Parts: sequence; C-alpha cells; structure tokens
Amino acid sequence: MKLLLYEKKEIHPQAIKTLLSANITVITHTKLTKDQKNEIEAIFVRTYTKVTKSLLGQFPNLKFILRAGVGIDNIDLQECKKRDIKVINAPGSNANSVAEYVIALMILLLRNFSLQVESLKKGNWRLLSAKGKELKGKTIGLIGCGAIGHLIAEKLIAFKVKQVLGYDPYLDKNTLKKFSIKKTNFTILIKTADIVSLHLPLTPKTRNLISQNELSLMKKESYLINTSRGGIINEKDLIWALRTKKISGVALDVFENEPKVKEEFFSLENVILTPHIAALTKEAELAMCLDPVKKFLKMLK
Ligand code: NAD
Repeated sequence: MKLLLYEKKEIHPQAIKTLLSANITVITHTKLTKDQKNEIEAIFVRTYTKVTKSLLGQFPNLKFILRAGVGIDNIDLQECKKRDIKVINAPGSNANSVAEYVIALMILLLRNFSLQVESLKKGNWRLLSAKGKELKGKTIGLIGCGAIGHLIAEKLIAFKVKQVLGYDPYLDKNTLKKFSIKKTNFTILIKTADIVSLHLPLTPKTRNLISQNELSLMKKESYLINTSRGGIINEKDLIWALRTKKISGVALDVFENEPKVKEEFFSLENVILTPHIAALTKEAELAMCLDPVKKFLKMLK
C-alpha cells in the first residue's frame, strides 16, 4: 500500500514510524508522475491541504484519506462519498487542549488582559479604568456542545459559573444535561451569555453564523471567543461590532483567510489574536496524528 504524505512537517514522526513499521510505503514528495499517482491508495493530510475534487481526480485508485486532527472542512466529502473513499480523522484527540485554552481565553478577556499589557508597554502602570471581572457567577454560552464544548462545560463547574447555556441542534436536552449544559435556543443564548464561545464545524450552513444581526443582539459587556473555524464569524461585521462597542472584546484563534489576519484587528482594543494554536500541545499533536494511523491500520487488517 502506497500512502502520499502532505504537510510532512505537521505530522508527528511517531505516526510516520508506525506507518512504516506496518510496511506502508510513505511518499513525501508531491511531484509524482501519472503512473506513480495511479499507485497511491491513501493520502495523509492535516489542515491546510485542500482535498478538492480536482486533487482527488489525480488519484484514481485512492481508497483512504487520513486527516490529522478533527475538522474535515478541507476535504470534499461529497466526492469522497461518490468514490467510496474513506475519510479517517481523529475526533476528540485535541479536545482537552482546546478546552483548557478556551478557559484561559475566558479569563484573559474578563481581565482586560490585552488592554493592560498594551498600556504597560506604553509606560502606564495599572489601567484602573479596565478593572477585570471574575469568571465565577457568569453565564457562558456554548454554540456547539460536542467533544470540546462539553469538556469546557465540565471544567467550568470548578469555576462556579452561574450557568452554561448550550445551543446544539443535534444534541438533545438530556445529553446536554449530563454535561451540566442547559439546552437553549440560539437567540436566547447570544442575548444572555456574558461569554459566547464557538465549538461547531464550518459548513455552508454555519458560515457567517455570527454576523451583524447576531453581534447586535449580544450584551454590550459580553465577549466572544472563536477557536472553531474562521468563516463562522463574519470578520467585517465583527470589526464593526468592536469599533462601535457592540461587544466588549473578542479572542480569535481562527481566521477567515488563514494564515492572513485582517490588519484592522491589530489596532482594536481588547482583542486577543493567536495563530490557530488552541490544539497545539505536545499531547494533542501526538494523538491527532497517531489516532487516524491506528484506525487506518486496523481497517487494513
Ligand atoms: P465535535 O464534532 O465533537 O462537536 C461539534 C458539535 O457542533 C457537534 O455536537 C454538532 O452537533 C455541533 N453542531 C453542528 N452544527 C451546528 C450548528 N449549526 N449549530 C450548533 N452546533 C452545531 O467537534 P469538536 O472536537 O468539539 O470541535 C469543534 C470544532 O472546533 C471543530 O469542528 C473544529 O473545526 C474546531 N477545532 C479547532 C481547533 C483549533 O486548533 N483551533 C482544534 C480542534 C477543533
């Protein structure tokens, strides 16, 4: 079995070692002849390879796509279904890393962290007009309550938040209750939450889910966090909302046009921007790459 590896630098060496020890031929150079492409039966990608219909068309004998990580929005799933190509990802593998990171972002936003740091750099000691708030007693709204969402809810119990509201059309009330999440409709959640955090996939349905209308419904003193996918928030509308103080701040780990970040964000107050690192821990890195390999080898058996 020949496997073509894209994004080699992004794939944990242990995952490659495991493939090799199972006698899989791992090809890392992507400039292949037509005959070589005909021999490829599996490809291994991470976040930034766009597995489009046209890329898939180059590999007539492709049977498996291994995706290191969770999101599969970079893969043309319809085409895979048509050609019976199995897509193997690693659901849940990075959930704890992301959940811990989101808790950190919640606290940093509530403490006006970026404002205080910027002020210090300008030579001012303690910006007294930007006193922080505690997480205790706050209402948290989670849009998407899957692996990451419910882990966040679990961790929030320790902080004694007032309540965790959840909007997830695919999970019922009782499932959410098990994670101490109160199932709520979308509009009530964004109107009520002190912090709204997004944990859902990017699909044609969820693109621009948070736009001008939704941002206008949020409380003026509320915060927004996106560690899911850029594109779920309309960035132009978000910049407008921050400029007109419709909300108090935002933390973004993901962007519409990665790795580009709109320059307007850099000059806005109380904005935390990070380069898609919510899952970038040693623990998650290994699981994200090794889990799909293990599943793939099991399927071959
Ligand atoms: P998951 O599949 O376990 O959970 C996603 C949840 O979203 C599901 O429960 C699903 O029912 C729900 N959902 C689907 N459509 C929805 C909608 N329209 N409205 C509300 N909820 C909806 O995935 P997860 O592991 O919890 O990851 C969540 C997202 O976070 C992923 O889709 C991925 O894009 C992103 N992610 C980002 C990073 C990062 O490094 N920043 C890391 C991991 C995952």
